[in-house]
Amino acid sequence: MGNRVRLRVQVPGEAYYKDLVSCQVACPVHTDARGYIRAVAAGRFEEAYLIARGPNPLASICGRVCGAPCEAACRRGRVPRVDDDGRFVASDRPIAIRAIKRFACEGFGPEARDPGEVLRALRDHVPPVLGEAEEMAALVRSSAARMFRPADGEPVAIIGAGPAGLAAAHDLALLGLRPIVFEAEPLPAGMLVLGVPSYRLPRDLVAREIDVIGALGAEIRCGIAVGRDISLADLRRSHRAVIVAAGAKASRSLGLPGERGPRVYGGVDLLRAVALGSPIDIGQEVVVIGGGNVAYDVARTVLRQIAYDTARTAARLPGIGRVHLVSLETLEEMPADTEEIIEGDAEGIRRRNGWGPVEIRRGGDGSVRGVLLRRCLRVYDEKRRFSPIFDDAAVEEIPCDTVLLAVGQATDLGFLRDGGGDVELVRPGWPKVDTETLATTAPGVFVAGDLAHGTRLLIDAVASGKAAARSVYRHVTGRAIERDAVTVHIPLERYRRERGYEAIRRVPIPATEPEERLRDPAALVEIGYDGEEARREASRCLDCGVTPVFDGTRCVLCGGCVDVCPTQCLKLAGLDEIEPDADFERAVEGVLGRDADPEASTVILKDEDRCIRCALCAMRCPVDAIAMERVTVSTCWRHP
Ligand SMILES: Cc1cc2nc3c(=O)[nH]c(=O)nc-3n(C[C@H](O)[C@H](O)[C@H](O)COP(=O)(O)OP(=O)(O)OC[C@H]3O[C@@H](n4cnc5c(N)ncnc54)[C@H](O)[C@@H]3O)c2cc1C
Repeated sequence: MGNRVRLRVQVPGEAYYKDLVSCQVACPVHTDARGYIRAVAAGRFEEAYLIARGPNPLASICGRVCGAPCEAACRRGRVPRVDDDGRFVASDRPIAIRAIKRFACEGFGPEARDPGEVLRALRDHVPPVLGEAEEMAALVRSSAARMFRPADGEPVAIIGAGPAGLAAAHDLALLGLRPIVFEAEPLPAGMLVLGVPSYRLPRDLVAREIDVIGALGAEIRCGIAVGRDISLADLRRSHRAVIVAAGAKASRSLGLPGERGPRVYGGVDLLRAVALGSPIDIGQEVVVIGGGNVAYDVARTVLRQIAYDTARTAARLPGIGRVHLVSLETLEEMPADTEEIIEGDAEGIRRRNGWGPVEIRRGGDGSVRGVLLRRCLRVYDEKRRFSPIFDDAAVEEIPCDTVLLAVGQATDLGFLRDGGGDVELVRPGWPKVDTETLATTAPGVFVAGDLAHGTRLLIDAVASGKAAARSVYRHVTGRAIERDAVTVHIPLERYRRERGYEAIRRVPIPATEPEERLRDPAALVEIGYDGEEARREASRCLDCGVTPVFDGTRCVLCGGCVDVCPTQCLKLAGLDEIEPDADFERAVEGVLGRDADPEASTVILKDEDRCIRCALCAMRCPVDAIAMERVTVSTCWRHP
């Protein structure tokens, strides 16, 4: 063997099958994205909605604005595209999972049906694959049946009606407790309505989705700020438990000279003012500091405000304003989504990459005159830690009259003063949290969402709200809800894919033209797929739950499967080429016995990222040693 580098492999076992469907694994609530995408491809649109909605009470909202970790994990995005000579051209693009979800929700979610109908459909739905696992199906049915019982059990207070608070309220109501949500703002949904602009997320859709949660028996009291209108001490006295889901609503500041004073705002403060229709004084030459998605929401919202105001008062205003976006990062490093950058560029945002602010210049009358910038030579160190280095000699000034800071958010835990003295903090503004149970150090007080894990995605907040609800249930009733996972293997006879599915390019998501968008601040940018587009895009899904299974006892080592594989994902290798680990040795011993001769034995290897589940290997095998199998991992919460 000498010093030959051996191949590292994973033997298919429990862990391998659990991770097979990477979109489902990546989703914090483990939505079976593969399941609903294949349902859309087959034209079973209602089933698609029900699969998407099952674990996620905010499925319709997610269909519009979820950060979609599932898409980042989608295997189709890793399949290499090759030219006619087999040379690598580029990786393929992931399935547009979010846009497909939107399509399914628009047809069968609260967008199209009243809350009662949505709940009835959910109650009656048992995922088809669970038909194979009777016990599981019974569990699903019994938890769904709770949907029509009144949520009249022990009262649980939730502070904040953002996605975390709403998800907690939804699950607590299903569990038969009585969730009461206290929300400081005049309307529920937290950052989904205070931060996410309406050109991305229509407000009536948000209201409809929340109506379904209300129909389960969750009570949402808006305009009540804990700490101002009611104390945490009162809530703890009158409720069996409290979930604090207060988010991170405050804008972080940079402490620059000139930062305090008129016409310098926090980005989320600006978004909140626009969302609630509060007057805010913005000029015509605006600089937004920040390079993430929030900075884009801020910049694009201001652009729309200026365009709208200008259109209404054109006779009085001197000219259309300009919005500059200043980011420390280079274009390639910017944390904002590529779509945001492209759409922002198309709408006229003046992007300045590789610059950082030094000072906000003000005139003698105190008004903003400009932002002084210095060149940023590097943002991250070798370990990818934020550690910017600047060139102090390279400075520039952007003349402007308004500055908006979109450089992160902070929490406001002022309400802990009365009744939260026993909530320990890990650092100012952030409670100490048990990451498993989401309990704080104060008995009966739990946290969820951004406040529990720092600012992340909406779907992380939903997952965390659901986890907090389970912990509260245990706290109140003394009974734990166990997670059950059932892995079902279903042999697929004569499995075939749609013709040409491997060559279909990602279907672009239709969007309005940039000029149209700026005419009305609420004009939606993404229009979404119609049925034909959704089915075509869905048909690109590789259906990763389907996998070839190799029977070593039948294989005659003809190599036909390797030859026929269009992506060269299969390889025959000698046993002695493999880096052995305990799993591998156990597997070899199981098949060949203890005395297998590494020189004389052969294994078949599959590169998971290249396999497109086309089944050609199974069709080609002359001795039926390869079978296509569907593997489904379904999780369910077992109520005691
Ligand atoms: C501008 C912006 C855009 C975003 N866009 C996206 C996106 O496109 N996709 C995505 O996946 N994620 C996005 N996010 C992230 C996502 O919105 C958040 O992670 C999520 O909203 C956090 O949920 P939460 O429930 O923890 O907190 P929040 O949504 O912040 O909700 C907290 C709620 O608690 C209330 N509250 C606070 N204090 C009190 C009190 N004392 N009494 C009563 N109520 C109180 C607040 O008013 C608020 O309604 C965005 C965030 C921002 C800021």
